[in-house]
Amino acid sequence: MMERFRSRTLTDRGMHLCQNDQDYLNCSICKIWGTMGDVKKMSVPTLTRLLVSDVYLDRQSITEEMRNNMELQWTEVKFETAISRLTGTALTGSLRQTERVPAGAVFKDSRWIFNIFQEEDKDLLKEIFIALELLEQDYIGGMGSVDTAELPSRISKSSGTQGRHTKAGK
Ligand SMILES: [Zn+2]
Repeated sequence: MMERFRSRTLTDRGMHLCQNDQDYLNCSICKIWGTMGDVKKMSVPTLTRLLVSDVYLDRQSITEEMRNNMELQWTEVKFETAISRLTGTALTGSLRQTERVPAGAVFKDSRWIFNIFQEEDKDLLKEIFIALELLEQDYIGGMGSVDTAELPSRISKSSGTQGRHTKAGK
């Protein structure tokens, strides 16, 4: 998403990859989220600044009403099919099911660590907030066009922030 927002070149698989030192040094995306380019061709350190831990379902957020609609312990199953625009009928073989958490489920306790290897890295922090705003207007993963994987418009901040300074290469 940030690749498109920043008009970066994408591969035919829809990914952005810096392939040389000069591109990487001018690329906030690869510095923050890491690069999958051929780092052997690069001589500059390509350390990822942002580390994101797993996020866990807040079981308290699952209401009795949600439970009544869930097929599995913590998830519901949604059936979908593709409709032919010409005939208005379901396309043969298009029936599929998706397992998902119910709308309104809350996830918590994700820990984000942003490593500042050099002074200029502090300027990259705002890019993360821009990315979160873009996600709020879009969705995570696939199936967003059918109202699945929407990010909540509220991301609460933990009060437990810690500063940590790490030197590059360690
Ligand atoms: Zn890049």
